[in-house]
Amino acid sequence: MLKLLKTHFGYDTFRPLQKEIIDTVLAGKDTLVLMPTGGGKSLCFQLPALALPGITLVVSPLIALMKDQVDALCANGISAAFLNSSLSPREQLDVMSRARAREIKILYVAPERIGSFGFYDFLVDLNVSLLAIDEAHCISEWGHDFRPEYRNLASLRMKIPQTPVIALTATATPYVRDDILSQLNIRKEGVFTSGFNRENLHYHVRPKLNTFARLVELMEEHKGESVIVYCFSRKNTEDVAEKLTKAGFRSASYHAGLPQKERERVQEQFIRDEVPIIVATIAFGMGIDKPDVRLVVHMDLPKTIEGYYQETGRAGRDGLPSECVLYYSYADRRKQEFFINQIEDDHEQKLAIRKLDDMVEYCQNIVCRRFFLLMYFGEKDVPTFCNACDNCVKPDVEEEDATEIAQKILSAILKTGERFGSAHVCDVLRGSKKKRIVELGHNHLSVHGIASDIPIGALRTYIESLKTLGYIAQNEGEYPTLNVTQKGRLALMDKSVITLPAVDVVKEVKQSARSSKSDLAYDVRVFEKLRALRKEIADAQNVPPFIIFGDRTLHEMAFYLPSTLEKMSTLFGVGDKKLEAFGEPFLACVMDSVREFDLQENDKPRGAKSPLTRSSSGVSTTLQETKELLIQKLSIEEMAVQRGLSPGTIIQHIEKLVYAEDGLDIAHLKPAESEFHEMKKGFERNRHATLTSVFKQFNEKYSYDELRLARLFL
Ligand code: ADP
Ligand code: ZN
Repeated sequence: MLKLLKTHFGYDTFRPLQKEIIDTVLAGKDTLVLMPTGGGKSLCFQLPALALPGITLVVSPLIALMKDQVDALCANGISAAFLNSSLSPREQLDVMSRARAREIKILYVAPERIGSFGFYDFLVDLNVSLLAIDEAHCISEWGHDFRPEYRNLASLRMKIPQTPVIALTATATPYVRDDILSQLNIRKEGVFTSGFNRENLHYHVRPKLNTFARLVELMEEHKGESVIVYCFSRKNTEDVAEKLTKAGFRSASYHAGLPQKERERVQEQFIRDEVPIIVATIAFGMGIDKPDVRLVVHMDLPKTIEGYYQETGRAGRDGLPSECVLYYSYADRRKQEFFINQIEDDHEQKLAIRKLDDMVEYCQNIVCRRFFLLMYFGEKDVPTFCNACDNCVKPDVEEEDATEIAQKILSAILKTGERFGSAHVCDVLRGSKKKRIVELGHNHLSVHGIASDIPIGALRTYIESLKTLGYIAQNEGEYPTLNVTQKGRLALMDKSVITLPAVDVVKEVKQSARSSKSDLAYDVRVFEKLRALRKEIADAQNVPPFIIFGDRTLHEMAFYLPSTLEKMSTLFGVGDKKLEAFGEPFLACVMDSVREFDLQENDKPRGAKSPLTRSSSGVSTTLQETKELLIQKLSIEEMAVQRGLSPGTIIQHIEKLVYAEDGLDIAHLKPAESEFHEMKKGFERNRHATLTSVFKQFNEKYSYDELRLARLFL
């Protein structure tokens, strides 16, 4: 099997579970494979297909993808074809007769084919060794993508009872999973699940502040790479795409309102590396199987964690490090809520709000993002620290007690009648005597000039932080005005402590926490040359560039600089067929580069794996201070007083500390037994175990802080 893997796919090792699955398939048993996007599901039926005597039938709903998959197989020297409505009747007959003549090893078919007239007769003539069902969740009405034609599969199985089946999906809740098993009559022992962690994806949430400027910086870092930017509205996608293009980053917009032809064109340009950046609504993605998307940006708050996970999942299918960046502002919650309020069904509306709150919680959460996501999807034994998300990597933003300035800002907004924007509120606070201020009589308000000592930039930042944390909100419109939310009013009335990110530090928090693009320190100039060559060859053959070679392969070429075809054949993704077809031109390109840039070849050590780098995380000073008080066994309140921070902030520190290091003694902070017991039950009853859902379940009996604390003991 390893030989087949290297010869046909150019890979040296199996990904987790692939070998076990392939073994089971070859033993003639039925399997259900649950793996995240990019986990390497296809290989689980493609490799057995090569070893089995007959044909492998692959059912897939994504007609647009069939051609790419078949092209990719053919490029690897595997005889594959597809049957769907995009072919002319003549072409279809041709494929069928080639299949009968045993000239095809892997045949992709659209699900509607299966119920069609004459299909079973056709099957009888074939020797079907394996039935593969891709996107198997489509068979279930519980899933998010039910396809009635998938129901034909149950009867198809009956027609060829001897043939083993392999069903594959990336999205399966326990319901859907059981549904697939029962409909396809697969036994529980045949289930393989690799867990849903996408190790190579790095998650970041950043404040929605000067977002376009931040976006441009991100694009600068990812220049030339494939990027998807998700926006909430169609109009936004067009605006952002236009502005990016003006700023020198070629991009196209994509949404369901565009004509079909235009959408196809945009997709095609993206897949062929002609337009690197797509700015899209969530309509974009289904049917995109581009392996080298390096960055997925969310400009607005997604509606659900499920959706967010699926959208970010489109990054880094090839396993190389890729980034997911979400710009968050609490104000976005209200935007989404506005739409949710229009849902008529009461139950659905409530469900939508709950999911939205979970999403907000993800954004505001201060512990490991990956931990949060995987817990949400019900995974067991998830590490609490990944070292590859903003919360694990970034130095903590120092917080300060900003109660006084926050109260001033909130009062100024209220006293001016919640009818003005941030600029005017700042003018009032700083005691400006501008004509407009005087005309409105705002120079006589008690709040006039009460923050004259604070620089304008700092004031603006405080306002933004208050927005992000939901103390104030901004009405959208031609003249955006600020108003104070319920949360803000309560804080003002109760004189609660308000902690905000310390202003002088806010600016210093580097936006970029990007780790290196690959474990290999390859020469970027050589990589660019190889990339250009790849594009040229791909265009000549009318296929997407990634079908020629993936990025990882080009990285290895640009690093090892192989001087012979034999050495080139040892590189990742270089199989026999590809070596024969493309080896010469790529070798020539490498040789040219070696001469041009005066470089030295590096020999690839046999069987070497890239070392996993894992740097230790230094705990920041603010956490360190809290930790010292914790060790002295102070109570939450005492620590809050000592540190001049709110109890909530202290609890967050403790949460971070507990998750970042083992063996910290916090026993003295455990809630009273009966309450703890009740909260524990609450978390256990709750499927996703998010704070928001438990908070609501108890009808706000326990505060978020109490729940947070209790959770540490679970
Ligand atoms: P999925 O269908 O699970 O989303 P794919 O089957 O498309 O994932 O695989 C994702 C990428 O990983 C593809 O580019 C594939 O060639 C690559 N891949 C699969 N198996 C291996 C392996 N054993 N070693 C290296 N790369 C692999
Ligand atoms: Zn993390």
